[in-house]
Amino acid sequence: MSKIVFPENIGVTSYGTVRLGKNFIADGNDRTGKARIRIQTHAHKDHTDKWIRNIRPGRALLTSKPTLAILSLEYPHVNINSNIHTLANSEKVLSKDLIQENFLQGKNIENAEISLFDANHMVGSSQVFIKNQDTGLSVLYSGDIGWPLEIIPKADVLVLDATYSRIKTDENKEWERKDAISKILTLVSSNLATQPIYIYARYGVMQEIVEKIIENIDSEINFVASDEIIKKTEIIAKFKSSTPINFKKEEDKYELNNVIHLKEFHKKQNESLSGLNITITNFRSQNTSPDKVVDNDYQNIVIALTNHASGDEIAKYIECVDPKYVITDSFRNSTNAQILADEITKKFKIPAIPSILSSVWKD
Ligand SMILES: [Zn+2]
Repeated sequence: MSKIVFPENIGVTSYGTVRLGKNFIADGNDRTGKARIRIQTHAHKDHTDKWIRNIRPGRALLTSKPTLAILSLEYPHVNINSNIHTLANSEKVLSKDLIQENFLQGKNIENAEISLFDANHMVGSSQVFIKNQDTGLSVLYSGDIGWPLEIIPKADVLVLDATYSRIKTDENKEWERKDAISKILTLVSSNLATQPIYIYARYGVMQEIVEKIIENIDSEINFVASDEIIKKTEIIAKFKSSTPINFKKEEDKYELNNVIHLKEFHKKQNESLSGLNITITNFRSQNTSPDKVVDNDYQNIVIALTNHASGDEIAKYIECVDPKYVITDSFRNSTNAQILADEITKKFKIPAIPSILSSVWKD
């Protein structure tokens, strides 16, 4: 593959910034100062480094309203509505034209056409499509994608999330989302009355589980959570028009029955609380999920439930995009990026490289 020349200025840098042409970056900071337009695919922390630097004159941030609402929890007083001046063509764009309730469609900026498409990964998450009007080259950054997807655009270059490396699933049936949800519901309903329940999950998946619990379990449940989780959950409820949850305060938890504590996924490492601990991991496992450890009054159950597309789904995605080149993301998953690129080359006969080999890696 080494003789094939990939288009310039496209790939992922060693610090996680996705480059989508000379003027465009996504999900990271621009250390070279080459690109002033940043697209933000979603609000998970491994994609949001220094996003605030693009909210100022001379720069621009393109994203969805829910994504911006979540990001803004970090900087509540940021002035999103200030004018943005893009210097290349003395163009002046208002940020309200770039951050919309619906996904941005066919916006012309810096000689390119930019569209965002739903990525079904979390509220507001998007795929990014950019077509350079001078060269005619189109590039698609998948961002983190779930499945199914309503729209998958065709593009010449695909920059692909590498969470799962195997595009071919083996003979074992995968542990599916619906298995995970029903397992969680069973655990919750059979333990709710007898012991406290702790659910550790990432943002997005957590709120999805809470919604399922409310829909399916017919008892009065007291949800307890940190201020941050409460605020983030309210943002999702607002954009999905679901019923807001009436949260209980941390300090009241000892007087409550039927309690479910919602906890940040990363806090699990330091905690073991007496009761039922359910940890929701991102891993796409085979039939082995869930794993269970019981230690006196402490019960720990790990369940796989991801909102990333599976290997099979990634294969369908690539088929739809029909790219001439594929670059996989080595920053967020370096081992998988290499394996996935090799599998794509083999299966689709498309030149594919991990981003560590892309021209922008050392930017
Ligand atoms: Zn994500």
